[in-house]
Amino acid sequence: MLPIKNVDESVLKDLAIEEKIDIEFLKRGVLSGRIVIPINVKRDYVKPVAIGEGLRTKVNVNIGTSGSVTDIDMEIKKARVAVVYGSDTIMDLSTGGNIDEIRRILIEASKPLPFGTVPIYQAWIEGVRKYGGMGIPSDWFISIVERHLRDGVDFMTIHAGISRELARKAIKSTRIMPIVSRGGSMVTVWMLENNEENPYLQHWDYLIELFKEYNSIISLGDALRPGTVADAHDFLQIEELVNNARLARDAVSKGVQVMIEGPGHMTMDKIVADVKLMKSLSGGIPYYVLGPLVTDIAVGYDHIAAAIGAAIAAAAGADIICYLTPSEHLSLPNIEQVKEGLIAAKIAAHAGDLIKLGERAIKKDIDMSIARARLNWNTQIDLSFDRERVRNIKNQFGDAIRGCTMCGQYCVFLLLEKYIEGRDNMKWNEILARITRGQHYGYI
Ligand code: SF4
Repeated sequence: MLPIKNVDESVLKDLAIEEKIDIEFLKRGVLSGRIVIPINVKRDYVKPVAIGEGLRTKVNVNIGTSGSVTDIDMEIKKARVAVVYGSDTIMDLSTGGNIDEIRRILIEASKPLPFGTVPIYQAWIEGVRKYGGMGIPSDWFISIVERHLRDGVDFMTIHAGISRELARKAIKSTRIMPIVSRGGSMVTVWMLENNEENPYLQHWDYLIELFKEYNSIISLGDALRPGTVADAHDFLQIEELVNNARLARDAVSKGVQVMIEGPGHMTMDKIVADVKLMKSLSGGIPYYVLGPLVTDIAVGYDHIAAAIGAAIAAAAGADIICYLTPSEHLSLPNIEQVKEGLIAAKIAAHAGDLIKLGERAIKKDIDMSIARARLNWNTQIDLSFDRERVRNIKNQFGDAIRGCTMCGQYCVFLLLEKYIEGRDNMKWNEILARITRGQHYGYI
């Protein structure tokens, strides 16, 4: 039986058609834990999205208030931008204001996308307030998870992979930045102050029951992800990955859907190995990567550093990419920066899919190329990620006759026009057949 209560045969059939895969492949993926479908039983209006092996790489957008900036209207607008520009999921990372209220508002604003949260933030912030410091009982952390589940949250980051022993090692390590995960540092402080084991580990079996009951996904957080390329692939990152892989297999064996979260900052040469190692250790559990950022010096342009890493990760088998914005490391993003980060991540995901999925992903590229060769500007605009931006750039120096202002009357397609007559008959299926036959050079 599938471990997803509210996903029936017709949903699976639609997903299989959308992904251009056999429905039996999809079922096998879900049964083995290699594919997940985030839908909390409390939410019947979510657009089902399948994440995992052999599927299109998905993109997640993070929104939410901070301790410094709590502007709910802005967060609602970010959610709408994420929906309009094609995010697959949305996560609320709110740490400012009334977190319960904000979550419920943002779940509505994010419809119809699956919605995720990071419950440690609320548990820690409200726990400190309620208990006057770090004397927060361990089951308080679980009660906040329950609150999120009751609200219909479809997937949650759970920082269970960092044990007390590992947290101690991290603090004493020679890393430049011992811990850069906000949730990871919160759980670390709690463990060190109370000399207790990670609350999510203490209550792991109960967590499993909860997530099963609500049909929500445990996304195992990477508290020890490297925060600089200099700290990548050290024993801390790998030890946490091993812990997460063990927990993931346990969850799957008990009928709970699970993902594992990944780095972080990492040079390009380590990314493929990272994805392969994670998949191998976990038995193919969906990998949810943040970036990876391939350099630490792209401040102001970190969405580009992350997109480069994300493209490599997707090509190597990563399943869902968390976007980064140009404001990463600097500020809470504004609405425009959310849009920029999302589009950068979508380009990265698609670039990865051209390798990972091959001809299943290439149709839009070919349609764009045909439109480009025919100087069909309307189709190029329609196929773009941001029509308004493309239209504005096209017209920024006024119009050019048929071509564009880059080459003006020396447009190659105009120069060659009379010699390439008949090419207007090029058909998508003929081009695909040529690619499939391996005739990439187009000789007659
Ligand atoms: S003018 Fe130049 S850049 Fe513009 S469409 Fe023609 S060849 Fe391409």
